[in-house]
Amino acid sequence: MTSKEKSAQLIDRHAHKLRCPICHGSLQVVELRIIVCGNNHSFDLAKQGYVNFLSRPVTSQYNRELFLSRQKIITESDLYQSLHAEIVDILKRRMADLDIILDAGCGEGSHLQQIVNELDGPVAGVGLDISKEGVKLAAGSYKSSIWFVGDLANLPMADQSNDVILNILSPANYEEFKRVLKPDGIVMKVVPRDHYLRELRQAVGKENETSDSTVSLFKQHFNLVDHIELNEKIKLDQTQLNDLVKMAPLAWNASPEQVHQFTSQETADITVDLDLLVGRIKLPPRG
Ligand SMILES: [Zn+2]
Repeated sequence: MTSKEKSAQLIDRHAHKLRCPICHGSLQVVELRIIVCGNNHSFDLAKQGYVNFLSRPVTSQYNRELFLSRQKIITESDLYQSLHAEIVDILKRRMADLDIILDAGCGEGSHLQQIVNELDGPVAGVGLDISKEGVKLAAGSYKSSIWFVGDLANLPMADQSNDVILNILSPANYEEFKRVLKPDGIVMKVVPRDHYLRELRQAVGKENETSDSTVSLFKQHFNLVDHIELNEKIKLDQTQLNDLVKMAPLAWNASPEQVHQFTSQETADITVDLDLLVGRIKLPPRG
């Protein structure tokens, strides 16, 4: 069986949780190579095993080189280790019998895969991103999860089909999240705090971010059941500093001198400063 057919088999097991992004009808896997709805809208599985649900291609500044750097930072450095451990801990405490975890805005899939690897039981990761380059790399690297190219504003997922939605350092669409989340499901959103990557920000002359408005918007849509602040410094070596510059959009407009000064350090302590927000669907007021 080819890896494409194996991916098709995995998708087939969860096909009842999908919906056609065009007509919103149900989808099924046919002959382990194509996904179709009752109105004959069809979506091919690519050779790497992912499915592209976009009706037209989207151009993006996020290229393969950026995603390769991101993959190395996420899987080989300690930068996000505490974040992954915290998410895994919350999932184990709050969610029994996990079926699938949707990562909305998964990029090249490494956050999702690291988290799924740490969970017990037959939980399947479903990663979705608008960037085909990112999803292609994810599908080539991580065969035990499902990978979709798709639009956050029109998820190819049925209503109330997901136990958990992850949204890590990525834009969100809360109306869609609420539609596809089970009534007892949770959303976990990771937002940069003021000092996130401050050493890189200082090197390229960028202002600090503030997460306040993101946190209050999240609270308008969900009941905040957990709010964890992660703050630590992680030592990166020179290779990792180079990858950090390549993966971080905030460094895109930096001058070559600024980049050189930052990446010529043998090691540097880099600040991780993140909010992890955990939300549940708000129940309608009684009355
Ligand atoms: Zn359709």
